[in-house]
Amino acid sequence: MSVWDDLVGQEQVVEQLVAAARSARVVLGESGRSGDSRNSGAEEQSGSSGMTHAWLFTGPPGSGMATAARAFAASLQCTSPDLELGGIPGCGFCEGCHTALIGSHADVESVRTDVLSIGVKETRELVRSASMSPAGGRWQVIILEDSDRLTEGAANVLLKAIEEPAPRTVWLLCAPSVEDALPTIRSRCRLLVLRTPPVAAVADVLVRRDGIEPEMAAFAARAAQGHIGRARRLALDAGARERRAEVLKLPLRVADLGACLAGAQSLVDAAAADAKQVAEEVDTRETEELRAALGAAAGVGGRMPRGTAGAMKELEDRQKRRATRTQRDSLDRALIDLSSFYRDVLAVQFGAAGELSNEEMRQAVERVAGESRPEATLRRIEAVLACRTALERNVAPLLAVEAMAVALRAG
Ligand SMILES: [Zn+2]
Repeated sequence: MSVWDDLVGQEQVVEQLVAAARSARVVLGESGRSGDSRNSGAEEQSGSSGMTHAWLFTGPPGSGMATAARAFAASLQCTSPDLELGGIPGCGFCEGCHTALIGSHADVESVRTDVLSIGVKETRELVRSASMSPAGGRWQVIILEDSDRLTEGAANVLLKAIEEPAPRTVWLLCAPSVEDALPTIRSRCRLLVLRTPPVAAVADVLVRRDGIEPEMAAFAARAAQGHIGRARRLALDAGARERRAEVLKLPLRVADLGACLAGAQSLVDAAAADAKQVAEEVDTRETEELRAALGAAAGVGGRMPRGTAGAMKELEDRQKRRATRTQRDSLDRALIDLSSFYRDVLAVQFGAAGELSNEEMRQAVERVAGESRPEATLRRIEAVLACRTALERNVAPLLAVEAMAVALRAG
């Protein structure tokens, strides 16, 4: 299992990153071919397959941007002896790969924000640690998972750091699309575009890595439309499947105004329940980890070290802030499911052959398709999109979803 195995359906991206990791060894003068080291530096970095200091990973949510960035970070820290024999950087077994992947490598910092925006102060902090020499003497790698959440001021701080990088510093920025990054930052990064992984590739990885039954894996991959994390959750969690089914009842419920409003309420409730479940799992794990870490510091006497209460409080605050984001993500996910239903309706109306995203609901899809015209379906898809936009602009969730449900009714 190399570090690249976790990237599902991204062969082209893997090829580019492997080439860059090889070239990075040349830059460090580590390549076995002695003549190569003289080619390092600026010339090497200008090539499209070479190493460079700033990367922008983009792709649809769930396509594995952060996974790709982590794999690349690991390959840059890979110390496998096989590399001398032409092996692929990112073996997955050596100390460098292993610690980079689990997040404990001294020279790999991964920033995942729980809040809705990243400010100037945090970014300055990050730039400072980025400028330090790598402890292991290789690369100082900073992964910024949500670079689209940088405030404009923060982006400008980052821009300066990218413009004048320390020689061994590598920035790996992730954003849903290239438009989410400031043009000035974008133009200084090498762009990597991940695609939505094919359904079959997602199903395959669920079977192979998570030991999920093929039939369930196929359903989950289809329903999640290429979002790997979502597919895994659907496959493993019956509650998540039930809540999804609840969301997809809405199209059959929008007969009259009262039913619309009730339907909107249950959609919002289902999304909130989903978010709560996700948040609880993560919160519990984090709290236990922090307790364990503090407990270990307490030593034999069992007395908790000074600052324990502060650290716990800080974690709780962070978890509360994150809850807002998790709820928003979960509701957005529900709306994506809903629009997939109407896209299936449209496919049936146009007589398209093949499997539906919601194949298990074919009867309901066909019923809605038979009762309306394609123009109405397009309007409904637009209503769902408008609701997502409204939520992005902080409209109260129930209000936005109610407005959408009413628009869905007008067939
Ligand atoms: Zn390795």
